[in-house]
Amino acid sequence: TQDGIIKTPYEDIKEIPNITLYDYVWQNLDKWPERTASICSVTGRGYTYEQAFKLSNAFAANLRKKLKIRDGDSIAVMLPNVPDFPLVAMGILEAGGIITTINPIYTAHEVQRQLLMSEAKVVITLPNIVGVIKEAFDIAKINLPIIAVKVNGETTPNGTIAFNELSEDVHVDKSCLKEVRRTVNDLCFLPYSSGTTGLPKGVELTNKNIISNCEQMNEPDIKCHSETTATHQDAVLAILPFFHIYSASVIMFHKMAQGIKLVTMPKLQPDEFMQALEKFKINVLFCAPPLIFLMASHPLASKEVYRYLEMVINGAAPISSSDADRFMDKVQRKIRFGQGYGLTETSPVVCMAPKDCEDYSVVGPALPSTQLKIVDSELKPLGPNQLGELLIRGPQVMKGYKDNPEANDATFADDWFRSGDVASSDAKGYIKIVDRIKELIKVKGFQVPPAELEAVLREHPSIKDAAVIGVPHPTKGETPKAFVVIDREAKVDVKEICDYVNKRVAPYKQVNDVVFLDSIPKTASGKILRKDLKA
Ligand code: AMP
Repeated sequence: TQDGIIKTPYEDIKEIPNITLYDYVWQNLDKWPERTASICSVTGRGYTYEQAFKLSNAFAANLRKKLKIRDGDSIAVMLPNVPDFPLVAMGILEAGGIITTINPIYTAHEVQRQLLMSEAKVVITLPNIVGVIKEAFDIAKINLPIIAVKVNGETTPNGTIAFNELSEDVHVDKSCLKEVRRTVNDLCFLPYSSGTTGLPKGVELTNKNIISNCEQMNEPDIKCHSETTATHQDAVLAILPFFHIYSASVIMFHKMAQGIKLVTMPKLQPDEFMQALEKFKINVLFCAPPLIFLMASHPLASKEVYRYLEMVINGAAPISSSDADRFMDKVQRKIRFGQGYGLTETSPVVCMAPKDCEDYSVVGPALPSTQLKIVDSELKPLGPNQLGELLIRGPQVMKGYKDNPEANDATFADDWFRSGDVASSDAKGYIKIVDRIKELIKVKGFQVPPAELEAVLREHPSIKDAAVIGVPHPTKGETPKAFVVIDREAKVDVKEICDYVNKRVAPYKQVNDVVFLDSIPKTASGKILRKDLKA
């Protein structure tokens, strides 16, 4: 249009259901009570929809009764993809809580920050992660109740409450759940994202944000599922971690609302992953680039292993066209294979390649009820095929960053959300994501905020200043590279600096490349000139 707005080709959603995400997910439960809701690909342990509903219901009542959870309290969930994850999530929502997810491989240093910032009241985790959480409590000088989800018959760790005791409690009085007052505009999910700059911030997603995104994904041209019927149930491999919004929203909430089977895989083990595709007749698969690479290059890759696949969608980071072609060569038949694009701040999906799109380099047009704009550095709209920053408007855009008015001011231009991504649009409104202007580094599709690594580096006694940028990596997409200025008298080497950082951060954030500089190039106002470092 004249004002530069790139419209969706789809009809707008007429009415976004005026209910909570909890009610939305369970609304059709009576159509598929006996169907599997979640099953572990490794142990075969799992739940039917009816079991998931009942257990999460008792868990919710105990969250209120025994753990004193009240409307709007944050509860931290630090779990890998176990079949209990959806029960935990639904229980928190029913109890009126807000789910804040933490990567289960985070270090105590990383965990404590999110516990403090999210004001979590309870932490839910696995027995073998309890140690990290207690260490985080020590650093943050807090002490919260811990609920341990036992997945392998472990004993309940000292000082924790067993999840199954809360969820299998048939005597709990559920009348307390009648006191819960949550509306469509209340928060329900609080993941952390660094956005365009700085440290990770709490992304406030409301019930309406996530329900809108679910409804948007139901558009017939783009939807990635089939209806659950008496004779059919899709099987989705939940390998992407539920702690990230891509998997929480697209795989967990949306697919559960459709009565689909979630085959949960707690950890990526290439052989097991390949075997699970066949064993569990996975027909719908959501991927990030490392998985496409794996499926293109694994020795087990064959048309037999891929015979059940019908829809494979890539998101989280750009796909390499050679991996895409190699993967499709292995499939040896026509399946739906395409890209989606989104961000934590947009619940997450913004664009999705429609069914008939065979161009893997585009992420498709905007979802229904979503408007886009591509603008220059002065926020002036650009025309088709011109490169600029992608701005987004739609009901899936977050309420804002928690307790952070400066970040909110910088992120919203009027009512447009600034993605920090460089994109172009063709005449049909199909979007290509070309680059990132924001400082975020993505390693295997995971966020690595440079500011986080810079803060850790600057804590080193011999480091006076530091800057981190992302450099291209053949299999990880990108990897962090650090530049440091050290004290003249100090005797530190690259190994010592790497060891110092890598003890404090999750494995995918680790730094192995350090350059010594006399000074970090900066603007007059003190902003790091990352472009100069890249050059
Ligand atoms: P996150 O908030 O962790 O989901 O990260 C969002 C960022 O991931 C976006 O701003 C993009 O930079 C990147 N991203 C997501 N999907 C794609 C895609 N299909 N192609 C390229 N980059 C993507």
